[in-house]
Amino acid sequence: MPALAALAFGFDPAPPANDLGRFGATEGCDPDFGPGDRTRALLKVQDGCDLRCSYCVIPSVRGNSRSEAPEIVLARIGRLVEAGFREIVFTGVNTGDYGRDLDPPLSLSKLLKRAIEIEGLGRLRLNSLEPKTVTAELVELLAGCSGRIAPHLQIPLQSGCDAVLARMRRPYRTADYARVVDTLRRDVPGIALGADVIVGFPGETDDEFEATRRFIESSPLNYLHVFSYSPRPGTSAASFPGHVDATIVKGRSARLRRLGEDLSLRFRHSFVGKVRTALTLRQIRSDGRLRALTDNFIDLGCDLEGRDPTRLMNRLLDVGITDVAGSSTVGTLVGAA
Ligand code: SF4
Repeated sequence: MPALAALAFGFDPAPPANDLGRFGATEGCDPDFGPGDRTRALLKVQDGCDLRCSYCVIPSVRGNSRSEAPEIVLARIGRLVEAGFREIVFTGVNTGDYGRDLDPPLSLSKLLKRAIEIEGLGRLRLNSLEPKTVTAELVELLAGCSGRIAPHLQIPLQSGCDAVLARMRRPYRTADYARVVDTLRRDVPGIALGADVIVGFPGETDDEFEATRRFIESSPLNYLHVFSYSPRPGTSAASFPGHVDATIVKGRSARLRRLGEDLSLRFRHSFVGKVRTALTLRQIRSDGRLRALTDNFIDLGCDLEGRDPTRLMNRLLDVGITDVAGSSTVGTLVGAA
């Protein structure tokens, strides 16, 4: 997740326009559900990582990948549902790796299949999945689960240039990444696809940055979280040659952020006139509209048309998307009492 990445890598993320941040989500799940806002809960199902990306301190801080037992995860979901949460977000350091360490081993897809059967559950959402953990089984599940798992994935890209990915020690190349996001775009209707990208990795040339920009531009991605690289002591990348000048990094970050905004705008525009299921949060926006989050991660304001907002909060309702301007999206409730 971006916050975790910032903590672990020492990056400097700009807040993305459509990120819910801490609002609307209660961190942790057991046994204190946190503040009174019981709309979305973050449920940690996994910790640690077996990969060794050259810039990352997480494996040395958090250790190898470990999964929560499925019975515990399912019981916690049940308690969150009972406590009134409508959306539960699975989190982890490398969530897609879930279950490999268990005895007998399990997969994230198998856990999800059991989780979506829990009575009263509104919907589940996944946070960030490494490209190699997006399996055919998971794509099939997302495509056929009738929205019980939100059609939304954030898949770290980090660079759209194979030479940089090799220096980062990332376990995939751009062709692998493209296959994953193209398959998701083709098979999961309306899915939102986001990516983390690092700019200014040691030795990143103008051409390598351009390759990243072009790769993203021609991809089906819908939003970006852009991070400026800064070295973390104890990582191999910290001693790599080719430090990139801060002014250049700033310029590259700004260009990618603009590209991310364009991708988001294009994505949200494509849903004007369409209806999505949205979770109404407990917040009235400054424009007087009720804030809501669609299944495919569009953060919007719902026109109330004279209705009492308190009766509409924390519900999964159909919302017709009516207008998009800049980072703002507006919709109307369809058929809500
Ligand atoms: S996948 Fe790489 S960047 Fe992510 S936590 Fe593991 S080692 Fe760190």
